[in-house]
Amino acid sequence: MAKHRPPKERKYGKGARRCRICGTHEALIRKYGINICRRCFREVAQKMGFKKYM
Ligand SMILES: [Zn+2]
Repeated sequence: MAKHRPPKERKYGKGARRCRICGTHEALIRKYGINICRRCFREVAQKMGFKKYM
């Protein structure tokens, strides 16, 4: 019974990368290999020292 694709790990496309913090697929930032979404990045950025962002 395989109606849809099972939720597997994908190597490409949507779902391949998710925010490490909240798990969303939207607005991911891969700039520094951090792989977190824009929103979480703002929080993490301060801790990481990205004070330039916003
Ligand atoms: Zn996030």
